[in-house]
Amino acid sequence: MNAVEVEHLHYSYINDETATLILKDLSMAIKIGELVAIQGPSGSGKSTLLYLLGLLSAPTEGTIRILGQDISELNEDELAHQRNKNIGFIFQQFHLLPKASVIENILLPTQYNPDKFTKEKNLSKAREYAEFAGLGNRLHYHPNQLSGGQQQRVAVCRALMADPKIILADEPTGNLDSTSAEQILGLLQNLNRDFKKTIIIITHDNDVAKKCDRIIRIKDGSIAESTNDLSIPNPKMAARARKKQSIENSTFKSFLRAAQESFPAAIRNLGRNKTRTALTMIGISVGIAAVLAMITLGQFTKAKILSGYAELGVNTMVFYGYPNWDQKATDIVPVPFRFFDWEGELVSLKKIFPEIKRMSPILMGWDGAVNYGGRSIEQDIRIFGSSEDALLMSRRKLVLGRNFSHIEIEQKSGVCIVGYEIAARLFSDSRPIGQVLRVSQGDNSFGCRVIGVLATATSNKEYMKPNLQIYLPFTFYQALAGDWWSSQIKEVMIQVEISSDIEKVGKGIRRFFEQRYGPSGRFRVDSDSVLIAQMRRFLTLFTVLLSSIAFVTLAVGGIGITNMMLVSVSERFREIGLRKTLGATKREIRTQFLIESVIVCALAGIIGLVLGFFGYHLAIWIAVKFVNKIQFEWTVDWFALLLSLLSIFAVGILSGIFPAIKAERLQVIEALRSE
Ligand code: ADP
Ligand code: MG
Repeated sequence: MNAVEVEHLHYSYINDETATLILKDLSMAIKIGELVAIQGPSGSGKSTLLYLLGLLSAPTEGTIRILGQDISELNEDELAHQRNKNIGFIFQQFHLLPKASVIENILLPTQYNPDKFTKEKNLSKAREYAEFAGLGNRLHYHPNQLSGGQQQRVAVCRALMADPKIILADEPTGNLDSTSAEQILGLLQNLNRDFKKTIIIITHDNDVAKKCDRIIRIKDGSIAESTNDLSIPNPKMAARARKKQSIENSTFKSFLRAAQESFPAAIRNLGRNKTRTALTMIGISVGIAAVLAMITLGQFTKAKILSGYAELGVNTMVFYGYPNWDQKATDIVPVPFRFFDWEGELVSLKKIFPEIKRMSPILMGWDGAVNYGGRSIEQDIRIFGSSEDALLMSRRKLVLGRNFSHIEIEQKSGVCIVGYEIAARLFSDSRPIGQVLRVSQGDNSFGCRVIGVLATATSNKEYMKPNLQIYLPFTFYQALAGDWWSSQIKEVMIQVEISSDIEKVGKGIRRFFEQRYGPSGRFRVDSDSVLIAQMRRFLTLFTVLLSSIAFVTLAVGGIGITNMMLVSVSERFREIGLRKTLGATKREIRTQFLIESVIVCALAGIIGLVLGFFGYHLAIWIAVKFVNKIQFEWTVDWFALLLSLLSIFAVGILSGIFPAIKAERLQVIEALRSE
């Protein structure tokens, strides 16, 4: 088996659809253990050939076998793996990572071949090579603290690190003085002789070439001359290519490994450009703060506003029915509507609408008066006739006594429950319960025995005078009402089960009555809960709008990261190319950049969360100063927090993807050729 076999190789650079043919029908073979020099005029295609042998680009035509393996059979990851395992590169420009120390530079290939040896083994091996190359006391120097010759020796150690069979060197002495050049050549000869490495050196230097086993001369993309007989490979033998080694490399495992390797590197890269990173982070911090604050404030405001309106409970409505005075003579009416009939139709409504939980007629007199034992309240008394359900539905609490009983409703008992202010003003020196009040409305006047006193209440409808109300059994009210009109049931308060849709039930009841009475009745549902439902919808919309603005801010921040990462990809053009040369797969390159953007986002995001947290509490605090009805409280909205955390990672990944793809697509050769 030969180290390298090339048959009928053609290679063209393709730029803007024009193809320039560089290598033309080139064939050659290099045996394992050979030290070969490649010479030829500048521009003859020597470097191009070396990149092809190094698996950095694919031939336009022809076959290349490396250690018997036809490279056209390998996919990209396998090529990367082969580069790492079998091939070491040495360049004229050294291509060291400028911010990494000597030892870190030497260790670089092991990042992409981590399972071969333990970290300790790699480290001791790297030290050994450094010692061997005379760099033992320079391990923690950076490349700019080394001479050219020393830098190239670092590159030689790096090339040895993965223990490759083949070393490719492109003008390794081209940038060196003659002493350093001799040292490097000595090193390479050493490796060839003692370690049986196959070494291919491109060189202008005839002294270097003369020390090689063989010189291959290239002219105009073909081999012009070889000092020894060229052993053109026997195609049949070569066809027995070795079986591909499978790379056991699970995606997740390799991601984890890449993440682990990239994390410190990412932190270092970001720290290198502190101002730029910090400025970029501001965008994300503000965006995340806005997302957290807007959603939290939206939810907070919603809760506060709605709690003020939920007086009747979110599942209570009032249903109205009046005869239609404008009814036309031509209207067809099944049954004419007079007013609601409690026993006849309202009670049975529960059977048709099982969602109904409680129900009470509401009869009402506006401007009543009360007196007891010489004290009186002459106006503003609101007199209600209701069933025992009314207080339960309107959530009025009793401070004294009890609610009506069912029997009292049935028997039209002369009992009443009075508002707090009535009790306080009339019974300042006697127990209210059991006393008989005199209630008058218009010319009508009657007595009722107090069985309960209501707790004070506030209402967003102050004209309802919640503390000057008197409740009577509606049957009693009907019996006493001065006139026919006042005794009719026109309003019914209805409470539905909390799980049912109140709007739907309300509409259903209305439809039921409209079908029964046709155009002879006018029916209407009035409900705080419908109002609340509408208000909730509005407030949700409001929150969504605010949050969208916040998300736009965040997106702008994300674009900032993308921009920074793109700049960073361009700046690290050569580093990425080098990493690929040393065997980094596309996935590993991509992971490195994604991790950088995720780190930036995570850091900025955490700052943003803190900013947002204090920001919205400041907003609440200021609001409390202006709106005296609400009180300051510490608030954490878990939904907002969760969404913010998700956004941090989403933005991290999304803003990193484009630069990461750009980095992974980068053309290695262009990167290596760039100065
Ligand atoms: P050598 O190393 O022998 O000096 P190279 O292999 O670097 O030569 O280049 C061979 C030829 O290919 C040169 O004429 C050069 O101009 C051309 N070439 C190199 N890179 C590109 C490219 N990206 N696109 C087009 N032509 C290129
Ligand atoms: Mg060249």
